[in-house]
Amino acid sequence: MSTTLDTTTSDDLDVPAARRRSAELERSVRERPGRFRALTGDRPTGRLHLGHYFGSLHNRVRLQNLGVDMMVLVADYQVLTDRDVADRLAEHVEDLVLDYLAVGIDPARATIFTHSAIPALNQLLLPFLSLVSVAELGRNPTVKDEIAHSRQSAVSGLMCTYPVHQAADILFCKAGLVPVGQDQLPHLEVARTVARRFNNRYGTPGSPVFPEPEALLSEAPLLLGTDGGKMSKSRGNSIALAATADETARLIRGAKTDADRHIAYDPVARPEVSSLVLLAALCLGRDPHEVAGEIGGRGAAALKATVTEAVNDYFAPIRARRAELARDRAHVRGVLRDGNERAAVIADATLKEVRAAMNALYY
Ligand code: ATP
Ligand code: MG
Repeated sequence: MSTTLDTTTSDDLDVPAARRRSAELERSVRERPGRFRALTGDRPTGRLHLGHYFGSLHNRVRLQNLGVDMMVLVADYQVLTDRDVADRLAEHVEDLVLDYLAVGIDPARATIFTHSAIPALNQLLLPFLSLVSVAELGRNPTVKDEIAHSRQSAVSGLMCTYPVHQAADILFCKAGLVPVGQDQLPHLEVARTVARRFNNRYGTPGSPVFPEPEALLSEAPLLLGTDGGKMSKSRGNSIALAATADETARLIRGAKTDADRHIAYDPVARPEVSSLVLLAALCLGRDPHEVAGEIGGRGAAALKATVTEAVNDYFAPIRARRAELARDRAHVRGVLRDGNERAAVIADATLKEVRAAMNALYY
């Protein structure tokens, strides 16, 4: 579905500029990682997939290992943006935590939490909503795309306002870095706008309450799914991190390609083929042009065989670790409990600061 791509890469979203800024940020982080706090999260709507891994998770683990203070959010309230009922929520939350632990997020260094358990975080939504206009909310290209794919017949208030809730997710802990995929760039703009307007309206000059958070894009900010649209948990087009080797082979065999037998890496003209090439290249740690060059005239079947082998080899140890961790559900729940406690302390302090800035502390 090419419309998925079109909406998120529209002109008002300057992806090349975001990539350049990411590269600069990367240099600052490497120089002084201890100065940075990062926040990212995922909706507990299903198992994490290869798009998550190469779009964000890989970066989170790398930043954590460099010494960045990492906050990882399970965005459980946001499940309700595009459906009436959050099905099998507890199971999906556990699955998400298992995926995090399996890829190397370390709960001793990172804070893994669910936002529904942090009242002070959610309370920030109210003053933040007062800082954005309804017209601004309506223009968000990612929200428009998600409405197009929504399972609901009517658009809920939560769907329109969740980018502001996401601003609360980021700003409650004053995260400066947000390692995300490209679909999140419009939301980052909302968080930056909220921070700036709050500081202007309530802050004292020279000592802003909130930093303006910045997106850190990866090498694969938009991995495509097997149907050629953005790979998404809820669109039936994803390959889960935890998939078996056989499932992976079957899904990749069914992936959309194009009629040109000669394999080349050209993300603009040939998005589906290029996304497969990129997937193999990322797993192999190689340049995508080189990978495509080696397959050349051998066609889509050869490309798919290369991708399948590369994915299965790369994820075998992660999948084994995940299966091992899944035996101890009590540990998973303990990780969340600890993370929620740590996040609540941070949120309480920020809310107090916000209320003080708004002259809303009365006793
Ligand atoms: P859902 O379909 O339920 O919305 P999703 O697959 O879009 O699920 P999210 O939980 O919305 O996943 O996104 C979590 C994070 O993963 C975000 O930072 C997002 O940018 C990133 N991400 C999701 N899909 C991709 C993708 N296909 N390529 C790169 N990054 C992605
Ligand atoms: Mg999504």
